[in-house]
Amino acid sequence: MASTYDIVVVGGGPAGLAAAQSTAKAGARVILFEKDEAIAHSVRTSGVSWIDSMESLGIPSSLYNPIANYRFVSPSNDVMISGSTPRSCVLDVRATYQHLAFLAAEAGATIMVRSNVINIAKEGSRVTGVKASTPAGDMEVKCPLVIDASGFSTSAGRKAGLAGEWRRYGVGAEYECYCDHADSLTWTLMVGQQYSEAGYAWVFPLSKNRVRIGVGIGRPESQADPLDKLHAVLEKKLKPLDALGKIQPVELHYGFIPNEGPRQVSVADGLLMVGDSAGQSNPLVLEGVRYAIEFGRLAGEVGARSLTHNASKESLADYEKAWKARVAAKIASALKVQSRWIGLSDGEWDKEIEILRDMSADEFIDFIKADFTAAKMMKLAFHHPKLAARQLFNMVLK
Ligand SMILES: Cc1cc2nc3c(=O)[nH]c(=O)nc-3n(C[C@H](O)[C@H](O)[C@H](O)COP(=O)(O)OP(=O)(O)OC[C@H]3O[C@@H](n4cnc5c(N)ncnc54)[C@H](O)[C@@H]3O)c2cc1C
Repeated sequence: MASTYDIVVVGGGPAGLAAAQSTAKAGARVILFEKDEAIAHSVRTSGVSWIDSMESLGIPSSLYNPIANYRFVSPSNDVMISGSTPRSCVLDVRATYQHLAFLAAEAGATIMVRSNVINIAKEGSRVTGVKASTPAGDMEVKCPLVIDASGFSTSAGRKAGLAGEWRRYGVGAEYECYCDHADSLTWTLMVGQQYSEAGYAWVFPLSKNRVRIGVGIGRPESQADPLDKLHAVLEKKLKPLDALGKIQPVELHYGFIPNEGPRQVSVADGLLMVGDSAGQSNPLVLEGVRYAIEFGRLAGEVGARSLTHNASKESLADYEKAWKARVAAKIASALKVQSRWIGLSDGEWDKEIEILRDMSADEFIDFIKADFTAAKMMKLAFHHPKLAARQLFNMVLK
């Protein structure tokens, strides 16, 4: 089966769905292929985000659980930062992505599920379309622009020779669980060897009876399987799981996230990469959903405009310029903090989380979101009562 569209979007995660909506809204004929049998069939994220970002992206508050308090547990320390109002949130991931899919459909995008993009077509160095295996048979689609929103795999970008394999990345395993009693306003990060040799573990509540409990591990620093580690944490009911009462997993999530900063190049003739395929996530806590939606919309707008120039690399350059101006410096600073954190021993973690004790909830949120403005970091670097903290914030400033 052969057909033509203006734009093909590869992948129905937050980046692809947002891109499909904005390209369709701009009047382009767009088709999105998602390899799983439903949008958000396989959840690959823990869904922590920030309420101000969700509000500015127009995500309804009914799709997330608000969080006001942030707790850190290390082998011999326990720090709680309490906020007066919720600023973070845990998304109902499936409902949020389906909401984005409905927005794209309403705008006029065609969405095909259980449809795997298995190859791209090229004329010279220009990408000219894709081949997809769909429930209606194999499809060859010709188009001036392919938007690669395939996440970690970067399927189209790698086939086009624009992107290589990620060398540094995180791998995470998580159970969504029933529990007897969680504090629905508090999320917890756990650090130290018993939780993760190179990363952290987490408890993220969706309500007082529903939590996501997971373990993330950085490659290449550790080759451990996060699922083995997660089973050990659950079996031993390590703190703070000991306070949750009965824990019964009902869903398993597993995923990979790139962790080496932005791709050097995210556009080529007839091709654009967005979301995890472009390396747009915040490496401090490996969160990328808000950027995937924001830059997905941007990619769609610039992509639709570029059609009058046959989606040349030059006509897509504004997209790359804009997203890098917005996040490249933040990601670079976050990578510095991460390189300090990745090698900490249990004893060092006990001291490191002590730094957080003297931060207000607002200061903490700016920091963990990688919202490092020079003024904010300077204030922390000069006024924090602890020397180790002043060193940390100075390192971010340099
Ligand atoms: C364990 C873990 C925990 C995380 N926790 C958080 C968090 O708490 N908060 C946060 O903001 N971020 C978190 N992230 C990161 C977040 O998940 C990503 O940044 C975000 O999902 C990126 O969105 P995306 O649309 O680029 O890619 P994805 O969400 O990965 O979507 C890509 C889609 O493309 C599809 N696809 C791939 N190849 C093809 C193909 N060839 N043909 C058709 N379809 C294809 C996939 O099936 C998938 O649906 C986490 C990541 C991991 C791994």
